[in-house]
Amino acid sequence: MVISRRAFVATSAAAVGVPAFDYTGKTGLSGASVSLPAPRNAPLDRSLAGFEPFIEVEASAIRHNVAEVARLCSGRPILAVVKNNGYGLGLEIVGPVLDAVDQVAGLAVVKPDQAISLRDAGVQKPILLMGHFSDSDAEELIESGIQLTPYTDEAVSTVSRLARDRNREVPVHLYLDTGMNRVGVPFRRALPWIETIAADRAMRIESTFTCFTEDDDFDYTQLRRLRDVADSANERGFNIGRLHAASSHGVFFRPDGILEMVRPGLVLYGAYPAGGIETNMAGLRAALRLRARVVRVERLETGDGVSYGRNYIADKPTWIATLPIGHADGYPRNAINGCEIMIRGSLYKVIGAVSASHTIVELGSEKTAEIGDDAVLTGPDDPAILPNTVAERSGTSVYDVLMHLNARLPKRIVGV
Ligand SMILES: *Cc1c(COP(=O)(O)O)cnc(C)c1O
Repeated sequence: MVISRRAFVATSAAAVGVPAFDYTGKTGLSGASVSLPAPRNAPLDRSLAGFEPFIEVEASAIRHNVAEVARLCSGRPILAVVKNNGYGLGLEIVGPVLDAVDQVAGLAVVKPDQAISLRDAGVQKPILLMGHFSDSDAEELIESGIQLTPYTDEAVSTVSRLARDRNREVPVHLYLDTGMNRVGVPFRRALPWIETIAADRAMRIESTFTCFTEDDDFDYTQLRRLRDVADSANERGFNIGRLHAASSHGVFFRPDGILEMVRPGLVLYGAYPAGGIETNMAGLRAALRLRARVVRVERLETGDGVSYGRNYIADKPTWIATLPIGHADGYPRNAINGCEIMIRGSLYKVIGAVSASHTIVELGSEKTAEIGDDAVLTGPDDPAILPNTVAERSGTSVYDVLMHLNARLPKRIVGV
């Protein structure tokens, strides 16, 4: 007898006494004897029908951007940076997408919990933690197969001890500080550091890298310092792995810094590091849509003001629409300085102060939107709402437009 999948699900649910989910909202779980975790995709499904703003991630755009980077770097392997919750798009969303792309050699983050979250999301490729970690985090990180970047004596001895305890060689990376003076091993004392690791059979240097200051006059000095350390190490017979330096900016503007691997973040999500002067070099596609639905449409009379501070006053009868998304969700407060929002394919100006949870647009003399209409605040659909345009018009950095997106916004993935 063939049991249909639907029948099987119904039967097995009944057999174990699991209450069926009821999305009508009429019955809560209060009477249930067990509390069930929400289904993994529940926030996504809810956001499609309801009024919660959400982020839509286009997997095909990320793959396209990786291909563009690979082209610019003549096919060098890509260490995809997914720090800060995948630049706001969702670590658990962009991690698996990038993991599945051939040109991506591994993924990199800066915070220990994000390294673990990536593994939990099912990422198989190497995960590099570029930031500092505590002794107590080191064990879980090593157990999860996270590759570490120790740059203090304590971190090195912790990794060495944990590796020996496990009778395992742990891959580590050398983060060389060539002038950023932020993190890493200062280049002037890198050689003894490399010697210590090389003499310790518990560790193997997988790669050696630096971070450019992105100062036109100084990056080449940094590159020379990196190469000098690499040459001296090689002369002494130390294996320091692959060399890398270029992030998004370097991929476009430091051809000499492309080396043996590249380490971009921003470009993978479809934004340009220098505001778009790079468009003749690569055609990136914004990989996200920040979306919301109209919750209110009203007509102002002449003289009516809008939002806190009333810095918009209607000079004639004007229709306006309210979106349930604001600066607490990550939409820039300064969007009022010229940003536009797309509703049903048309662009409308942001007016009045952007508040924590609401943003208002001017529709004009006609009522051109209805409650429930789809809006896109940032996305690929028009030059006016590209992440770089939103950044420029709101006087902020495009990194902020992405990374300040509230991590709790529901995500939906399309184009898988
Ligand atoms: C963030 C970061 C990158 C990626 O930078 P983008 O400008 O987003 O490409 C690369 N390397 C390090 C060390 C970083 O912290």
